[in-house]
Amino acid sequence: MKWHILYRGPLSSCNYDCSYCPFGKTKNTKAELAEDAKKLTRFIHWVKSRKEEIEILFAPWGEALIKGYYQKAMTTLSHFPNVKKVTIQTNLTCNTSWMNQVNKESFSLWTTFHPSQTSLDKFTKKSQQLDALGIRYTVGFVALKEDLKLLEALRAAINPKVYVWANAYKRIKNYYTQKEIKKIVAIDPLFNINNQVYDSLGKSCQAGHTSFSVDGDGNITRCNFIKDYVANIYEDSFAEQLKPRPCSNATCRCYIGYIHLDALKLEESYNGLWERMPRLLQKNI
Ligand code: SF4
Ligand code: SF4
Repeated sequence: MKWHILYRGPLSSCNYDCSYCPFGKTKNTKAELAEDAKKLTRFIHWVKSRKEEIEILFAPWGEALIKGYYQKAMTTLSHFPNVKKVTIQTNLTCNTSWMNQVNKESFSLWTTFHPSQTSLDKFTKKSQQLDALGIRYTVGFVALKEDLKLLEALRAAINPKVYVWANAYKRIKNYYTQKEIKKIVAIDPLFNINNQVYDSLGKSCQAGHTSFSVDGDGNITRCNFIKDYVANIYEDSFAEQLKPRPCSNATCRCYIGYIHLDALKLEESYNGLWERMPRLLQKNI
């Protein structure tokens, strides 16, 4: 059995200030950070204690990698034999020297370029540090029409062996012209998978079975989009509640959700689903 776990603790702060984001320039208090660190440590002990193979994606409410305790957590988890992959979403503002200690086979980064918060030049320099360290990573951002030139510039600036993804803007139906889609697909060959809203009601989905979301208290929900309580990882019998079940939402539109829809068979397109590493780039660095 292999589990795909999405962990999101109580941390809710960020050093960036993206206009659309509630965590922009917010700060947690010392006590809140201490609580977050305590919960993260408990989660790490739990992971260590499990017999199952585990792939973990950290999707924090804000930026976690600027905190030393997250850097240590990534390093520790990456060395556990049962942790096959550990990935974290980040704006890549953290220093990178600590990554020299991680297990580079299992550790990777899901980096997002935020053009309103940093320059392409600055971001590229950081990505070159990852290249020099041999860290696997992907890069991307939401492909607004006005940013397509920037997406091309990002592709040109980043190591050609690194996957650059584009998240589709879906709030406006049929937002892109065919010409724009062609342009984006030239950069992200898997864009058409993302540029859809999937009818998911009643469809078979691994979320709640081999994949689940966990909060800082260990509470499980099947995914980030259906908030019904499933069980708690710190209770002995929690695994009995992990079982196949159809989706109860009308649609699924986000990468971290629809990848678990069985009918899509996306493991055929991605080498690591949680990592968002496509098969067409077998070796990313
Ligand atoms: S970097 Fe991410 S978490 Fe931080 S403000 Fe921007 S969108 Fe929000
Ligand atoms: S299809 Fe999406 S919303 Fe439905 S259970 Fe799976 S991940 Fe959750």
